[in-house]
Amino acid sequence: QGVMGGTLYLDVPNDLTAAQLNKRLRGPILEALAQVDAEPAASTFRVVVNPELGDAHLTAPVPVQSALAPTSLAPARPAGEEYSEPVASTARSDTRLNPKYTFDNFVIGQSNRFAHAAAVAVAEAPAKAYNPLFIYGDSGLGKTHLLHAIGDYAINLYAGIKVRYVSSEEFTNDFINSIVNNRASAFQARYRDVDILLIDDIQFLQGRAETQEAFFHTFNQLHDHDKQVVITSDVPPRHLTGFEDRMRSRFEWGLITDVQAPDLETRIAILRKKAQSERLQVPDEVLEYIATKVSSNIRELEGALIRVSAFASLNRSNLDISLAQTVLRDIVDQDDANVISPTDIISATAQYFRLTVDDLYGSSRSQSVATARQIAMYLCRERTSLSLPKIGQLFGNRDHTTVMYAYKKISELMKERRSIYNQVSEITSQLGRSAR
Ligand code: ADP
Ligand code: MG
Repeated sequence: QGVMGGTLYLDVPNDLTAAQLNKRLRGPILEALAQVDAEPAASTFRVVVNPELGDAHLTAPVPVQSALAPTSLAPARPAGEEYSEPVASTARSDTRLNPKYTFDNFVIGQSNRFAHAAAVAVAEAPAKAYNPLFIYGDSGLGKTHLLHAIGDYAINLYAGIKVRYVSSEEFTNDFINSIVNNRASAFQARYRDVDILLIDDIQFLQGRAETQEAFFHTFNQLHDHDKQVVITSDVPPRHLTGFEDRMRSRFEWGLITDVQAPDLETRIAILRKKAQSERLQVPDEVLEYIATKVSSNIRELEGALIRVSAFASLNRSNLDISLAQTVLRDIVDQDDANVISPTDIISATAQYFRLTVDDLYGSSRSQSVATARQIAMYLCRERTSLSLPKIGQLFGNRDHTTVMYAYKKISELMKERRSIYNQVSEITSQLGRSAR
């Protein structure tokens, strides 16, 4: 299925295969993973039961079985080594929920109080409170977080409930593939056989008539059967251009709510929570300083915190205001700067590393190009409003998990390697200069 956050996801058709992989092939798989020098890298794996593979693969369980035979000799898993729990957790990974986004770590403020309350209500009473729930707002204000949190909470409340999160890009690709591969019924099952469908960034479907049609049917099917639909978008329904009227009006059937830019208090609270969860020791006045410096996008707010603390730990210096000032000198709040485009980022990164733009788009796996590419992805994630799949597309049609991995990896590396930290900072300051 793909690698996400250092974990390789393996889709298998049934519980039996999952159990076998987990029990008997764990050692060899972990060993093999350690040897693969892939991008993104995985150090552990998780088996996901995907019943959809059923008809195609159930008829041929033999390869799996025979592959298992010699591995009864495989060494037992070394004690204490990290792996994910077997079958029990599979239902959850099938939802595509990101466990990082929960209500617990969502900070409530004036700007999102209503959206949060609506999201909680929907999770507590799917299809009974508001259906659909439509959440809109600018990029980086917590829409995706709320969507995942609804799923997470509902799963905790209702054992066995079927939840599915999907970005509109994935939905589109899935739909197109289902047509190409003649698997329309699998596509329908995937999206219609759920209790809660969480669909992110619906504006992506603008002008895509066929996919809209497919979504229209999915929506109707779910709604008619009292299944919950939650939709996010960057604009309210009536401003969705390139949508049919009947779609837009359907989006207005339930509740429409927005998320706004957080006020200063909320920004500080968000930073405090983030510092806690990342175990960063950051004095209040520094959090406050960062919160005044970055005001319009929570993703950038978090990026600024990570950068300041990375700088302090690299230099083993005190995390104080003057340090934060130095580090954030070149971070220009989007409110008072021209918006930075991904092409600016990519060309600035290429230039900095003396590479061509095509090197960054391309498939070279040489370490230096790969790192430059990951830095460019990191900056696109932090500095633009593009979604992960969009950024992936930009970089030669890479998967969104690759972008997510790049973002995590560079965030981590900045703390450990001065060279990486400096490179990211210098490219940022270049961008800051050209934006002013
Ligand atoms: P959007 O989908 O609206 O572009 P995201 O949900 O991706 O925004 O949020 C961007 C980042 O900000 C995420 O890391 C998210 O966890 C964080 N975030 C957003 N709102 C909050 C909040 N109210 N409390 C804590 N973190 C938040
Ligand atoms: Mg989002």
